[in-house]
Amino acid sequence: SLIGINRSEGNASTGRTTNLSLINHNIYTHIKDKFQNTYIQAVSNSDNDNTIVSDEKWSVVVIREPFLLHQFRDDVKFTLSNDEIEEEEEENRRATERIKCVQCNDFYIEQDNRMGACVHHDGFIYDNYSSRLEVWTQRGAIEQLLKEEARSIQPSAYGMQASEQKEHLERMKQRFKFICCHQTLFIGGMMGGCKKGKHSSPNVTVEKWEETCHENVLEIVDLHCCDIDDLSSVVK
Ligand SMILES: [Zn+2]
Ligand SMILES: [Zn+2]
Repeated sequence: SLIGINRSEGNASTGRTTNLSLINHNIYTHIKDKFQNTYIQAVSNSDNDNTIVSDEKWSVVVIREPFLLHQFRDDVKFTLSNDEIEEEEEENRRATERIKCVQCNDFYIEQDNRMGACVHHDGFIYDNYSSRLEVWTQRGAIEQLLKEEARSIQPSAYGMQASEQKEHLERMKQRFKFICCHQTLFIGGMMGGCKKGKHSSPNVTVEKWEETCHENVLEIVDLHCCDIDDLSSVVK
C-alpha cells in the first residue's frame, strides 16, 4: 500500500497513550489534493439546448485502515452515508451526554466510564446500636439522620439535660454503618466509598442498586449470628 499508519504506544502521567502518524505523508497530501480536484461539471451545449454534456473527472481511493479512512474523509470533506452520520451522532452522544450514576450519585459521560472511575459502597447500612441490627438503605438512613438533626434543635427533646442530650445525639449520629466495610455513615460530608469500579449503566435505577446492596446480606449474618428470615423482617 502507498500510505500506512505508524502506531506507537507510550506511558504518560494521564495513562496509556497511543500515537498514530502517517507513513508517506507527501503521497497522502498529493492524493488528497488530486481527490479534491475531481468534479462533475455540467456544460450546456450551445448548438443544441436539449443535450447536456457533462465533464466528469473521477478518483477512486481504497482505504482499509479505519483511522486513515476517518482522517481522509474529514480532510476531503467527503459526504457521509446515513450509517456514518448515525455513527457520528452516537459517538457525539457518548462524548457529551451526562448520565447519573446511582452508586456514587454523580454524573459521568459514557466514554469516561472506566474501571476505577466510580468510588462507592456496595453494601447496605445497618444500625449498630439496635439490638436486632436494623437494615437501612443509604437514602433511608441519610433521611433519618437529617430528621433527627432537625428535631434536635427543638428544646427538651428526649427530656434530658442539655449536655447529656447533646452527647446522646452525637453518639446516635454514628450508629449507621456500611456492611461492606463497617465505615460510619455521616451526613454533609463526601460520600466516599470502599469500592472502586465503573459507574452504573443508564438503565440501573436507584431501587435496583439498593436491592443489589441488600444482597450483601451474608456478612451481617456472620457478624451477629441471626438467621436470614429474622433479618429480612427488619429490612426497611
Ligand atoms: Zn463500604
Ligand atoms: Zn459512580
